[in-house]
Amino acid sequence: MTTPTKEGSAAVQARRVLVLNSGSSSVKYQLLDMENRSRLAIGLVERIGEETSRLLHTPLTGGAATRERMGRIADHEAALKAAAEELAADGLGLDSPELASIGHRVVHGGLRFTEPTVITEEVLAEIERLVPVAPLHNPANIIGIRTAQVLRPDLPQVAVFDTAFHTTMPEYAARYAIDVETADAHRIRRYGFHGTSHAYVSRKAAELLGRTPEEVNVIVLHLGNGASASAVAGGRCVETSMGLTPLEGLVMGTRSGDIDPAVTFHLTRVAGMSVDEIDVLLNKRSGLVGLCGDNDMREIRRRIDEGDERAALAFDIYVHRLKKYIGAYSAVLGRVDAVVFTAGVGENSAPVREAAIAGLEEFGLAVDAGLNAVRSGEPRLISPDYARVAVAVVPTDEELEIAGQTFALVERLGRTAQPGQAEPLGRVDN
Ligand code: ADP
Repeated sequence: MTTPTKEGSAAVQARRVLVLNSGSSSVKYQLLDMENRSRLAIGLVERIGEETSRLLHTPLTGGAATRERMGRIADHEAALKAAAEELAADGLGLDSPELASIGHRVVHGGLRFTEPTVITEEVLAEIERLVPVAPLHNPANIIGIRTAQVLRPDLPQVAVFDTAFHTTMPEYAARYAIDVETADAHRIRRYGFHGTSHAYVSRKAAELLGRTPEEVNVIVLHLGNGASASAVAGGRCVETSMGLTPLEGLVMGTRSGDIDPAVTFHLTRVAGMSVDEIDVLLNKRSGLVGLCGDNDMREIRRRIDEGDERAALAFDIYVHRLKKYIGAYSAVLGRVDAVVFTAGVGENSAPVREAAIAGLEEFGLAVDAGLNAVRSGEPRLISPDYARVAVAVVPTDEELEIAGQTFALVERLGRTAQPGQAEPLGRVDN
């Protein structure tokens, strides 16, 4: 975007985007220059509201080292102000006319938000209305947005929704087989999450194959602490493993993933547990941590190497679930061009990739041990040449995707804006 001067000549290129990912007690931020899609600075404020708050700020231009601030940061507003001060110290102040927009990761956009959206009061009200289906995430996202609005009220703020990429799922994939009236009254359906990552990684995978997204069918396995699978046909998501909430699907760091829903009635009746206790059990004390006490795949592999049986069983359960999803999504897609691993475990754990693909030769899938062992930050193939279906590792970059979607939207709006509408789109006269 170009910022006109009073004389009307183009003086400042507003090409920076601040990406904010606000959690309940943390804020992650990145400042990107969209001219060359490079990062200028990244940072994290954690334990907001506690005495032990910490800010870590890393400038990525000029070679300066990471700076750390310890001590209480009272709330999100104070966190963002502290981040803004750090950025300003690097000459990257948020008051700069070079800042085009602030892009916010918003976890739940329901069915309404299928695309990145400029945030208005009405949009905020809708994000608020979705709090019952995303009680942990949407309130924090709203606080982040409100705070950023105070900081730069003149800038367009854009919401990029984790659910948006999945809104293309057909009704028969998104609807649970429960009473329709009850489901609709409470907006119960499969929404899916990690959409920004699935969108980015599926597009990058097509690029890696030398094809357009429209030409390929891919299965994306986003294996971080949270984990989800998606089936993407011709660039559109047709199925994903997370549901109404991020609890469903794969085995995760601390979440159970798929489970017979009757387990919850059983625990209520037999163990006398409350709904909140079961919520904590399934979301925080299950998955890998529940199975073996560790949720870090590195630690689990180390324990397996030492002969630890609980760690080995946890690994097997994790991999077995992955295999079930690869098989199911192969059937959903009919033809698969690539299975793609991403996020912390997917990008780094060769043993998980090897075990998940082992025995799937009938599906046209195989992993080359040498290629799988290579460590790299680049998208790469790990399947042998003869394999019918490519297996790939594609590092995810949710912040770059949020920045890209945010910038594309404000540019588009900037181009179509009438002269009188220029201001809300981030044009600053100076
Ligand atoms: P999230 O964004 O969901 O918090 P990440 O995508 O950063 O998670 O993934 C974090 C997880 O990745 C860790 O819990 C750990 O299990 C795994 N991980 C990170 N590095 C490695 C590695 N070198 N080898 C195996 N697993 C790793």
